[in-house]
Amino acid sequence: MPAIQPENILALPRIVVDNPLAIARPVARLVKAQTTFEGEGFMVRRPFPGGLSMKDVDPFLLLDQMGGFEVAPEEAKGTPWHPHRGFETVTYMMDGQLQHQDTSGGGGMISDGSTQWMTAGSGILHIEQPSEKLLRNGGMMHGVQLWVNLPAEHKMDPPKYQGIEASSVKLLTSADGGAVIRLIAGDLGGHVGPGSTFTPIVYAHITVEPGAKVVLPWEPDFNAMVFVLNGSGTVGVEKAPMPESTLALLGPGDTVVFQADDAQHGAAKKLDVLVLGGKPIGEPVAHYGPFVMNTHAEIVQAVEDFQKGRMGVIPPIHA
Ligand code: MN
Repeated sequence: MPAIQPENILALPRIVVDNPLAIARPVARLVKAQTTFEGEGFMVRRPFPGGLSMKDVDPFLLLDQMGGFEVAPEEAKGTPWHPHRGFETVTYMMDGQLQHQDTSGGGGMISDGSTQWMTAGSGILHIEQPSEKLLRNGGMMHGVQLWVNLPAEHKMDPPKYQGIEASSVKLLTSADGGAVIRLIAGDLGGHVGPGSTFTPIVYAHITVEPGAKVVLPWEPDFNAMVFVLNGSGTVGVEKAPMPESTLALLGPGDTVVFQADDAQHGAAKKLDVLVLGGKPIGEPVAHYGPFVMNTHAEIVQAVEDFQKGRMGVIPPIHA
């Protein structure tokens, strides 16, 4: 898994929890990601929504793992032009390249550990396609897309982008140096990731050596989830088994704990997880396809605005 790799893991700042009274969070639910097809027909593994309620995952809406395997030449697929309003799409590519373009004139290549953080706000159209190179030659493809909800007061903000280069991701390690912690957004033990967010969240990609254990300080008023991208381990104070494609929703407490199994199967030979959580927004959610608002009337308005071209029009070269 390329993502971003440190030159010397032991030189990274260590996340150490030294409060003996800190309570490790228990497992509240374990759910298996559902396999479904997106866009022009690429497979995704989707831990939520599905097995978890909107309330469980608030302030997040959806998580899709794309690929994690080799695609054959001419096999890679993307999405056609489509709109969004009322939330943010956060696309993190660990392997392969995704070409992005939108109706505000923004665009670029997301690849090898970089993240594109798109605040759809009041509305935008975009297209996400594999790079020409990936389409022609095939190759490894592995990324995730997370949907982060916007609070009502920011749903109609102008669209915005953050291109987060792999080199700007905050690299940290665990107390024993057995994990690479890539902090994309939020605060972990006083270290801050590059992503700018409207509601407080933590979002990290962590690679754990076989047998190594990770303990992370976690805000008591944040929810907390651990999703296994590849490999296997145990999670929570009760050390619940966590095979590949499992998402653990954790209960209340001060720390998030998990451990990689000694024997790792699969190509990566390591445990890779996303760890995410945030302060719930706590507002009503009305959603219809690519629009996420607070009321049904706002969804009706979104559909009308999209149909009348008020979220932008597809550039003539593509129409
Ligand atoms: Mn999209």
